[in-house]
Amino acid sequence: MADRVSEDVRSYIMRSISTTSTGPERRLGALLRGAGYRFAQNARDLPGTPDIAFRNRRKVVFVHGCFWHAHRCRKGRPPTSKTDYWNSKRTVNRSRDARVRRQLRQLGWRALTVWQCQLKDPDKVLLRVSTFLETAE
Ligand SMILES: [Zn+2]
Repeated sequence: MADRVSEDVRSYIMRSISTTSTGPERRLGALLRGAGYRFAQNARDLPGTPDIAFRNRRKVVFVHGCFWHAHRCRKGRPPTSKTDYWNSKRTVNRSRDARVRRQLRQLGWRALTVWQCQLKDPDKVLLRVSTFLETAE
């Protein structure tokens, strides 16, 4: 239960909390609004509560934190301590992500994932999202 967490793990927790409150989701939302897009945020009626939903196009965008969703980038690397603990949490997240994508596809929705680290390059993110929206399928 009340588990003593090492400094290493604690600093990871604090970092992930601070990135949450900085809000990568909110940053992407502001970026897209600035580019003139209209969309719904936190679409609770859809599987996985997509961060951003373009309802008339049946397309959604998820913003994933690199650490929690185990992105293959520097930020996504697991901490050196309690590796099993974190890896199992991250594995659960990743399999949930995959399940949500399948459910959305079955309902006729397409999904794009934007990673937290990619938000450092807003132009590139905008290009990815606009390409995703323009692609018919
Ligand atoms: Zn990343």
